[in-house]
Amino acid sequence: MKAKALVLSIAITIALTACATTTSPTGRTQVIGGVSEAQLAQLGAKAFEEAKAKTPQSRDSRQTTYVRCVVTSIVRELPTDWQRLGWDVALFEDKDANAFALPGGKVGVYTGIFTVARNQDQLAGVIAHEIGHVVSRHHNERITRQMGASGVLQILSGLAGSRYGEGVGNVVGQGGSIIAQTGLLLPGSRVQESEADVVGQQLMARAGYDPNGAVTLWQNMAAAGGTRQPEWLSTHPDPASRLRELQQRADGLRPTMLAARNAGKVPRCQ
Ligand SMILES: [Zn+2]
Repeated sequence: MKAKALVLSIAITIALTACATTTSPTGRTQVIGGVSEAQLAQLGAKAFEEAKAKTPQSRDSRQTTYVRCVVTSIVRELPTDWQRLGWDVALFEDKDANAFALPGGKVGVYTGIFTVARNQDQLAGVIAHEIGHVVSRHHNERITRQMGASGVLQILSGLAGSRYGEGVGNVVGQGGSIIAQTGLLLPGSRVQESEADVVGQQLMARAGYDPNGAVTLWQNMAAAGGTRQPEWLSTHPDPASRLRELQQRADGLRPTMLAARNAGKVPRCQ
């Protein structure tokens, strides 16, 4: 009964949640608010738990420390409110060269990323891009656009159920995982991908990483080939122009990187 009451109260909250326009970090007008940031953080946390339940985490403490080091140094460059999220990191044992960041401040990296992200600048390139999606509220924007209120309600009902003892397994059985239901891990639109590139490279430079790492990472990935495209390499109709943009921005951000290093921000993650 308690669970039902909770679902109902969430339903009412959702019904009253109005869509609103806001401005993205690059000055773009966004429509968000189909789901509140608090609810989105809750979904992110749930999806992260689910990923942890499904995929083993690396037992390599050196690699785990390395990934945490990079995430921490990027998070330190976020606006204060975003820093306070309580960021959590998991290094998953998986050969895909992929990574993700979820609303609520959850970062997942697959060990396969090390085949293409071969130094801290390149790893920062992937992580900063993913965190760029979160702080640009891309998940909220996408959910607001793609899902009606009923879809959101369905997810929150499942979420409430699982919190009250049904377990993640049951929720998965009830019609797809939280991740699949919400599309939290779907690639962004082309606009969102470009924005995550811009925001990510700025974060890299401010943290003292070489923003050119995003370029070499990209080249390594292209050289590695393969059929499965990782999130951070997705949804761009013109890869050559994306690479060119990354290169031009890296040049433009060089003074930012040097200023950060002069201020003592010299990342030594390894
Ligand atoms: Zn992306």
